Amino acid sequence: MSKDVYTLADLRDWATAIGGEVPPIRLAVLGDPVAHSRSPQMHNAALEAAGIRAAYARLHIAPEGLPEALRSLPERDFIGANVTIPHKPAALALMDEVDPQARRAGGVNTVVVEGCKLLGFSTDGPGLVRAIRADFGFDLRDLRVLILGAGGGAGRAIAVQCAVEGSARLVLVNRTFERAQALAAELAPEFRETRVTGPLARLEAVPWNDAALARQLPHIDLVINATPLGMASAAPEFRRISPIPASLLRPTHLVYDTVYTAGRTPLLLAADEAGARGSNGLSMLLHQGALSFEIWFGRPAPLDVMRNALLAS
Ligand code: NAP
Repeated sequence: MSKDVYTLADLRDWATAIGGEVPPIRLAVLGDPVAHSRSPQMHNAALEAAGIRAAYARLHIAPEGLPEALRSLPERDFIGANVTIPHKPAALALMDEVDPQARRAGGVNTVVVEGCKLLGFSTDGPGLVRAIRADFGFDLRDLRVLILGAGGGAGRAIAVQCAVEGSARLVLVNRTFERAQALAAELAPEFRETRVTGPLARLEAVPWNDAALARQLPHIDLVINATPLGMASAAPEFRRISPIPASLLRPTHLVYDTVYTAGRTPLLLAADEAGARGSNGLSMLLHQGALSFEIWFGRPAPLDVMRNALLAS
């Protein structure tokens, strides 16, 4: 590919921007920023392995350019696209049709171009289900789950997925407590049925402090970090912070960090210290990508090829 990152200006004059590129760019990830995205490595390896004559690029699109960029995809002969930070919620309103689960998740991360229509899907929640099964050997529906960052986009998609799966328990924790409370109120109808006996409610929003976490964690199987705390690209003061101290974790906990840019993140080091099993967000990235591939092409994704490409990138 001639450029690492294409822009809206390129999209406006696409024929000139891509020249005679072979294979032609017919898929892309739209984000702001987007230079760090590892989706092109993963998807280009998949396209090549599947013998599909198309390439996947990065498109740096500012929020005000998103409507124009998405609308121009059909006439540029795109098969579809991924949408990442910060565009997932805005993309929802720009689709001609939206999958019900993407609507509930509050954002679109996968776009299909069908004729001149744009169809929106979300593979983040289903991707997490596959990641938890692959990494820990458990189904989300059988677990008591605590989500840190249950007010953000990823946290919301995961919480909605827990409701869809019927997880045994769900505890929502967020720095801005009101956002966790609002999400709990929205999901309450799906958690009315009693599934486990125990002292605590099946669905709760709790404030983010050590006392509240210490009360909840003995009744939790899976802890998920859906905040950017621990990201290698975060501000220096947040890079080394674990969202939960090791002293609050137990060896029986499964710990999943959606952050994938820092290898063994501070949260996973805390899990190691506590003797708990931990896994980072690379598997969620892989499986949400594999699900996008399945939506675009209606066939299974070459998972091993995609995993190897991600690990090598
Ligand atoms: P977002 O919509 O901006 O949400 C950020 C969340 O983190 C909010 O709940 C926010 O709480 C919380 N937060 C931010 N800074 C915090 C801090 N210093 N202390 C405590 N909480 C803080 O972002 P997002 O799109 O959900 O992404 C969140 C993370 O998920 C990112 O690290 C991203 O890499 C990861 N992710 C991974 C995958 C994957 O495939 N592995 C997919 C999607 C996202 P407030 O409500 O209080 O602001």
